[in-house]
Amino acid sequence: MPQSDPDSVAREALRLIGPDPQNWVPEREAIDHNVVVVGGGQSGSAFAFALRRAGIGKVSVIDAAADGAKAGVWLTSARMHKLRTPKTLPGPELGLPGLGFQAWYEARHGAAAYDALDRIPRLDWAAYLDWYRRVTGVAVRYGTRLVRIEPADGHLRLHLERNGAAVIETTRKLVLATGFAGSGGASVPEVLQGLPKRFYAHTSEAIDFRSLRGRSVAVIGSAASAFDAAAVALEAGARDVHLFARRETLASLPVIRIRGYPGAYDNYGALPDAVRWQQAIRFRQAGSTPPPDAISRAVSFPNFHLHLGAPWTSARLQGVRPVAVTIHGEFSFDFAVAGTGYAVSLGAQNELGDFADEILLWRDRFAPPADERDETLAGYPYLGSGHEYLERVPGRAPYLKDIHVFNPAAFVSFGLPVGDVPSFKRDIPAVVARISRDLFLADLASHEARINGTIAEDFAPELYASAIWRPPQHAAAE
Ligand SMILES: Cc1cc2nc3c(=O)[nH]c(=O)nc-3n(C[C@H](O)[C@H](O)[C@H](O)COP(=O)(O)OP(=O)(O)OC[C@H]3O[C@@H](n4cnc5c(N)ncnc54)[C@H](O)[C@@H]3O)c2cc1C
Repeated sequence: MPQSDPDSVAREALRLIGPDPQNWVPEREAIDHNVVVVGGGQSGSAFAFALRRAGIGKVSVIDAAADGAKAGVWLTSARMHKLRTPKTLPGPELGLPGLGFQAWYEARHGAAAYDALDRIPRLDWAAYLDWYRRVTGVAVRYGTRLVRIEPADGHLRLHLERNGAAVIETTRKLVLATGFAGSGGASVPEVLQGLPKRFYAHTSEAIDFRSLRGRSVAVIGSAASAFDAAAVALEAGARDVHLFARRETLASLPVIRIRGYPGAYDNYGALPDAVRWQQAIRFRQAGSTPPPDAISRAVSFPNFHLHLGAPWTSARLQGVRPVAVTIHGEFSFDFAVAGTGYAVSLGAQNELGDFADEILLWRDRFAPPADERDETLAGYPYLGSGHEYLERVPGRAPYLKDIHVFNPAAFVSFGLPVGDVPSFKRDIPAVVARISRDLFLADLASHEARINGTIAEDFAPELYASAIWRPPQHAAAE
């Protein structure tokens, strides 16, 4: 039974913070946008709202997906029943409880129903985000893909594909809220790439699991997405599913969880490079483990088989069927799903092609001790405190400071999977503050004129003239 109207809860939250400030950013000739946000998922939507509340107008959000249901991961490649993050973490509401998931859920289902949730159901989260966009008035231009960023004189020329047509728009600032696949794309193991594509897919793709009914499915990887894919294949009636993990155990090593206390969470970006690097190494060594319910969901099927310590060494076609080779033997299968995560490789990202070589990476800035070398992490961008790209050679690519990265490529610099809910509270306000500062200082002369301008009188001096104190002798002389 609905308890109240979530819209009225949101309207009240917005009423209490007053109207949006007016756009204070001066117009510039031939500039279409002050900020373009690439990606209309949860991050891009929250950015649009936060920028508006900072009085920054002419913000446009674009998304390559055809519509909201195809954007982001929640109704596409995410196949779990519940979010992995705790339900109480602050998210896109950015400090306004009336815009948060809890307010939305309680208004629809009641406080007791919210209390009874252990974690947020995925479909509810997707519905909440839709509602969030609607009540905050965040408009996303779907069907609009960024294909190239061209540096220009004091701004960026964005080459877009809008429903198949090429368009150029200009912006002063760019936020890349492009999600997991936005800094190098899906990571597909080389052993799979030798097989014809019809025999495999990455978990980020749309997979027709119904077509796997009665088939033998191999899943590579042991993180949550791999287990989710295995479970969905089994639920769709796969004959059997074999999941191949490199690791000998699914239990993770202990890592410092920076979300654990505010000091570490808030100040992570200020840690010395050596400490941030060490944390990133520890995180990678521990690996990403699936939540217990994702494991139980697959393990509940007797035709689910887990191969630990069993990386594929090769794969080949034998007759019409593919065969995987591991140290434990050979396994033939009908279809393989790679739950092998995402790469961070800026050179592979078309839109960065004009200047990928100019971006400062961790390998350019930090030389780790021999026992802490990691080529994967070394390829992550070394970001500035506003999540902006920095120059590899100072002075050669000054426009990089206008591109702010809000996707998992920010992990080594900021210690969290950026774009995931835990990153919102700390990082969205920080990036918006930097954008605001840069835009303000870039037009300093105009702002000086504006803040030094004549202040209009609110009332005439007659309003208080009769009460002005005059010493008695002065009054007598009068
Ligand atoms: C299976 C799975 C489970 C997850 N579970 C959780 C969880 O429990 N909790 C959590 O916090 N996070 C989770 N995540 C991480 C999740 O991806 C993020 O939290 C969330 O989706 C990030 O939102 P986002 O808006 O940053 O990116 P996304 O939701 O990925 O949205 C990015 C958008 O950018 C668009 N885009 C990309 N490139 C371009 C371009 N060149 N031009 C135009 N548009 C472009 C895409 O179309 C997409 O819509 C999970 C991820 C996966 C894959």
